[in-house]
Amino acid sequence: MKKAMTISYEVGNNLYLNFTNKCPCACTFCIRNNDDGAYGSDPLWLEHEPTIDEIKDDLSKRDLSKYGEVVFCGYGEPTERLGAMLEISAWLKDISGGKIVLRLNTNGLGDLIHGRSIAGELCDALDIISISLNAGTKDEYMAVTRPKFPDAFEAMQKFTSDCVKTGKAEIMLTVVDVIPEEQMQASKELAEKLGAKLRVREYID
Ligand code: SF4
Repeated sequence: MKKAMTISYEVGNNLYLNFTNKCPCACTFCIRNNDDGAYGSDPLWLEHEPTIDEIKDDLSKRDLSKYGEVVFCGYGEPTERLGAMLEISAWLKDISGGKIVLRLNTNGLGDLIHGRSIAGELCDALDIISISLNAGTKDEYMAVTRPKFPDAFEAMQKFTSDCVKTGKAEIMLTVVDVIPEEQMQASKELAEKLGAKLRVREYID
């Protein structure tokens, strides 16, 4: 396993931020199982979790105005570092005069990680919350996501619903386009029930 201090990396028109390798899941499809990077990036396994100053230094070297979105998404679950993410979000909004669009890609288990509801803080700070649904039924979700929390499926749904209720950010659930038809149908029904959009992402091997 190669390690580096790749804090930000470009994916298409967006800039992704990688600042933790911690995650309570062990998804069968996780890109961390296949490689040391993503989309041609340098290794995303971190030598250490970057400090707030290290993250700011890294971002200060970028022309942030050229990116469509800055996305909290790396080789780990961003809400593991909720405080750092909120601080960086506020700083990015401040230095861009509110123009930067901020998105979080999350497994939706931050409430379980922190033992409290975090939807309000996140929806105040970010523009888009993208939550990995992965499957439409509990059995399948637990089989592919393999979370350390037995009540993960229910907690992910509550988190989604809490985010929707704030009315403050765009909330979407995501699945990949290769899941079986019955899982796709169940995912659509669940997203509708929770009041979130369902985004079907292309599966990249
Ligand atoms: S939640 Fe994301 S980082 Fe964690 S194991 Fe699943 S795909 Fe990998």
